[in-house]
This record gives sequence, structure tokens and C-alpha cells, in this order.
Amino acid sequence: MITLKEALKLNKDEIAELREDLKKKIEDKKEIGAYIEQLQDTNIAEFGEGIPIAIKDNIQVTGWNVTNASNILQGYVAPYNATVIDNMLAHGLAPFGRANCDEFAMGSSTESSFYGKTLNPHNHSCVPGGSSGGSAAAVAAGIAVAALGSDTGGSVRQPAAFCGCVGMKPTYGKVSRYGLASYSSSLDQIGPITQNVEDAAILYDIIAGHEKLDSTSANEAHEKVSDKLNCERKLTIAVIENYLEEADDEIKKVTKNAIKALEDAGHKIIYKNMANSKYDIAAYYVIAAAEASANFSRYDGVRYGNRADSTNLKEMYFKTRSEGFGEEVKRRILLGTFVLSSGYYDAYYIKAQKARHFIKSQFEEILSEADLILTPVTPTTAFEFGSKSDPLEMYLQDIYTISVNLAGLPAISLPIGVDSKNMPIGAQFIGQAYGEQVLFDGALSLENILNKGETV
Ligand code: GLN
Repeated sequence: MITLKEALKLNKDEIAELREDLKKKIEDKKEIGAYIEQLQDTNIAEFGEGIPIAIKDNIQVTGWNVTNASNILQGYVAPYNATVIDNMLAHGLAPFGRANCDEFAMGSSTESSFYGKTLNPHNHSCVPGGSSGGSAAAVAAGIAVAALGSDTGGSVRQPAAFCGCVGMKPTYGKVSRYGLASYSSSLDQIGPITQNVEDAAILYDIIAGHEKLDSTSANEAHEKVSDKLNCERKLTIAVIENYLEEADDEIKKVTKNAIKALEDAGHKIIYKNMANSKYDIAAYYVIAAAEASANFSRYDGVRYGNRADSTNLKEMYFKTRSEGFGEEVKRRILLGTFVLSSGYYDAYYIKAQKARHFIKSQFEEILSEADLILTPVTPTTAFEFGSKSDPLEMYLQDIYTISVNLAGLPAISLPIGVDSKNMPIGAQFIGQAYGEQVLFDGALSLENILNKGETV
């Protein structure tokens, strides 16, 4: 598939051709189910005439049936564009196709979508990761130039790693959340999923910037990174040793090769440890569930989408939510309501906020000595469908990604090799807040080194 950088050079007729060509390819790769339209056997949703970009089904596009892959939002039609969509349109890009995802972006496998599952293009019996699994599978299968996903605890980086593409989570506030369905408002960020690092920088530049309608948007002018990319600059990179040692053997091996290649290329490698990631998991699932339980009160059958037949208001709320939400979403709402209840607020929610503060300070300390942090993205490569039936096991997929959201930092995942079954392995760079330039420079440097075939 043509890259975003190349597509930006096409004229109007060539872009029209690209869109037609893409539609044919999508039809040919129907079984992957990267797009909700493939799963529903309907025509691909389009808006505008620009370079086609796949959009996760939780980002508002005027006139689209944006559903968060949930039954409760069937019939809802978005009345406005998210800021990222307006920014794309202003740069000659256009939303194209609704990418499948876990219901309300909760999950790590895209198995909880109301529409059915998306297959990993590298092995159809494995998950593409999640929650932005459709976005990553579309890019990896060559049926999207690039895609947008959302990352609350790793949902852009983890599926990118499982599918062998690049996924980037911006600093909290750099990309407006206006028009992104809120899951956990203090953690959510929209991010690009692309074929390479440069495309990620280009798409990030297009979607980033202040939005006055979004009080959590960083109030500063966006400085472009994609025209200043510099892979020659030598960086100090802190490898989180205990994270690396915990990962699967094959991930460990491939990551160590990448570290060696970085060192050989002149970067300085230092080794650090972070507190056991089980604290990140605990803090994240308390905070994310608490915020979700508050955010999801809006899905009541009155304002959006589906409404269950009922004889009175209370019954309508009850039935709409019982029938509309899937199992995982209900579990999170219950958990969130519990940790926010008056008797448990201090014991769980306040404690989780303290843990969050601690996690942030650990990052600050390491990043005062290093330009970037390097960790694995996931403890294993893509797993088989149905293999993680225990929710806690699924939550452990996020051990290397969620702390980044808790700290509000930018991070990128990029492919660094494959395991013995040929499944992609990714590495994650984490940068300082608003340090996207260094983050992309480091990632581009690693991508270039590996492409030259010096290692792995
Ligand atoms: N897997 C995590 C969760 O279920 C992360 C999801 C995300 O980043 N949207 O909450």
C-alpha cells in the first residue's frame, strides 16, 4: 500500500483512483473484518474526497453511524465532526471506513465488538490486539493508507505491535479529544496507526493542536515535528530492565538485539528499573473504571441510539443498559461505581490516584537522566482467539503501556522483528511530556537501523 507521505503527493484524480483501488482490496480481504462495513456486508462509509484514512468507530464523523462497536449505539448518527476529522479534512485527508474495535475501547483483543471479531492479518487464528484492532489490522493488511485509533491504556500501541505496524500515543492534551467518545477522560488520546514512523509523525502533525471546545486540550500552538525529523541525533535511552526480563523469551531476545543495534549506532544505553507493573494495572483499572462509570451514565436510552421497549422511565433505563452494553462494559461500570461509592472512595480511588502520582514521579526521575525510555510493548506476541477468557489475564496485556497514560506521556510502538512463528514483535519508546520530536527522532533512528538489516 502507498504510504501517507507518497499519497500526499497525488493529484485529485490519482486520489480518486486510490480510493477505488482500496475499495476493491477491502472487498478481497473481507474475511479480516478490519472494517465494520466488512463485517456487516455494507458499502464503506466515506466523508469527503481526500486521502482515505480509516477511523476507529469511537470518533465522530458527521453522518456516520458511530457506535463504539456497541449494541447500545445502534441507530445513532453523529451530528458533528471530531476535531481530528476537521483537521484531517483541512489537510486533504478524508475519513474512510469505520474500523472495528473492542466495545467502548475496553479490551486488548477486539473480541468484544458487537459486530464480531477482526483477524490478525499475519495469522488468522490470532487476535489483532485491541482495542483499536480494526485500525491496526487494516494498516497491516494493506487495506488502509493509515488509520486513527484511541489509546487509553495502550489501545493504539498494543494492536500496532501485534500487527506489525507503527502506533503512537501523543502527550495528553496534544490531540483534542473533542468528538472522541469518552472512556476514561483523563487517559484517552487519539493516535495514528501507520506503516512507518515518518507517516506517524505526518499524521500526528495533522491531528494535533489546540481546540477551544476541549478544556483538556493543551493551550499552545503546535510545532510541527515531521519536517524536522532527525535520525542522526545521538540519544540517551533508558531500558527498563525489569520489564524486559519479565517479557516472553522471544520478545526479550529480539528487544535485546534492537538495543544492541541502537548502541552500535552511537546511542547511549542506560539501564533502570521501575516498580512492579502490577501497581500500574491496579491503579489504571480503578481510575479507568471510575471515569467510565461516570461517562457512561449518558447512555440511558433517552439521548443516544438504542432504546428498549418499556412501560416506564426506570424500566427503560434498566432494560436499555442491560440489553445494550456487553459483559466487559458492564463489569467496568460496576467496578467504577463501586470504587467511587462513599465507603470505598478513600480505600480505592484515592489510593489509585496516589499510585498514579508515584508512577508519574518514577518516569520524571528516569527522564531527567535519559532522552527516551525503551520497553517492550507487550509481554507476548498476538495470542489466539478465546485464549484469555479470564478478564484479569486480558488486563495483564497492558502491563507495559498503561503507566504511560497514567503519566500523560507520549509513546510510540514500532516493529522490531518477529518471533519463531513469524508474528510481529514491537518495541516502545516513551518520551517526556511534549517531547514528541525526540520520540519520533529516536523511533526513526531505530527503524532505519533495522531496515538496513544490521540486526534482528
Ligand atoms: N486494554 C485497556 C482497557 O481495556 C486499554 C484500552 C484502551 O487503551 N482503550 O482498558
